[in-house]
Amino acid sequence: MVSVRLENITKRFDNVVAVDRVSLEIQKGEFFFLLGPSGCGKSTLLRLIAGLYQPEGGRIFFDDREVTAVPPNERNTGMVFQNYALWPHMTVWKNVEYGLTLRKVSPAERLRRVSKALEMVQMEAYANRSPNQLSGGQQQRVALARALVVEPDVVLLDEPLSNLDARLRLEMREQIQELHRKLGITMIYVTHDQKEALAMADRMAVMQIGRVGQVGNPRALYARPSSRFVADFIGEINLLAGEVTAVDDKVCVETALGTIHGRMAYDGIQKGDRVLCAVRPEALAFLEGQPARGENVVSGQVRNVVYLGDLEQYIVDLVDGTQVKLVDHNPLERKAGAGEDARLRFSPSAVVILQDEGEPA
Ligand code: ATP
Repeated sequence: MVSVRLENITKRFDNVVAVDRVSLEIQKGEFFFLLGPSGCGKSTLLRLIAGLYQPEGGRIFFDDREVTAVPPNERNTGMVFQNYALWPHMTVWKNVEYGLTLRKVSPAERLRRVSKALEMVQMEAYANRSPNQLSGGQQQRVALARALVVEPDVVLLDEPLSNLDARLRLEMREQIQELHRKLGITMIYVTHDQKEALAMADRMAVMQIGRVGQVGNPRALYARPSSRFVADFIGEINLLAGEVTAVDDKVCVETALGTIHGRMAYDGIQKGDRVLCAVRPEALAFLEGQPARGENVVSGQVRNVVYLGDLEQYIVDLVDGTQVKLVDHNPLERKAGAGEDARLRFSPSAVVILQDEGEPA
């Protein structure tokens, strides 16, 4: 088990900068996620850690050992890919054993380690099958066993669940987490699925066009995103634009809807800054009855209501034309119908004030 440190890593393909000066520190034993939309460079970063690509700039360390120029087979990593990448002409047993044979491990030790690895993923009974006689989930479990059997210092997983159906994905999530808990091994996991990352990660890095936007644990990233991109990518967000008029224990923002107060803001926020007040849909609630006074109350008209059983979604057009979404997580009854006027309130502690960088690209 090792820590992994990236210092200013850059990787280009012709004129595409796939990874752009990325620095990250992943702790020993951590379950770390690289999260971001398609093409943001997360797979490239994982391959750089594995040694499958060489960076044009920067350095990679496993603990204090620099591995930037070390070939992949000398890094002691285990990899799991989206498409399983099992050898079709070998049995399950041979697939898992192969890495040990390459490493010239003795037959007795191979027997012990392959049995243990197959047991870890509950595939002992399938040892003599060939991969094409297995379901997708079973193949992915074999791929996991194959990565783990070499007792790697770090396991690298590239979208390992994206070929599986929704139910199996949930089941495998739990199994991988359980394996991580049991083995305590450093794992780096690439996904574009924010729910997967929120559910499984100790910490995660959200990537955007080759760069790391923010690093933190799931709760911190969800509750306190540092940019519109991160806020949007790991959940839904309502954004109310305005200008900062005061900064003390709370920040006051003058908007077309009135003054909005927020508690969480970026470092160095100043009077006069153009900002966005970001509020999650579940932090909005209907203000029922009189009067309309109080902090953070905005008015509008309900455009649309969708009942989904465990929650109910309301789309509301605010008086300045901004559209917001409100989610009620305990929808025992409908709180407002389409076409009705409504007032919404939200707590200052649910508002994250972000710099307004203009329209996203
Ligand atoms: P996805 O989730 O779609 O796999 P990703 O975030 O993993 O996306 P990468 O596969 O790392 O993204 O790709 C990052 C950028 O580098 C993209 O613009 C991609 O087109 C480019 N790229 C990746 N691999 C290569 C390659 N072998 N040759 C040329 N360009 C590449």
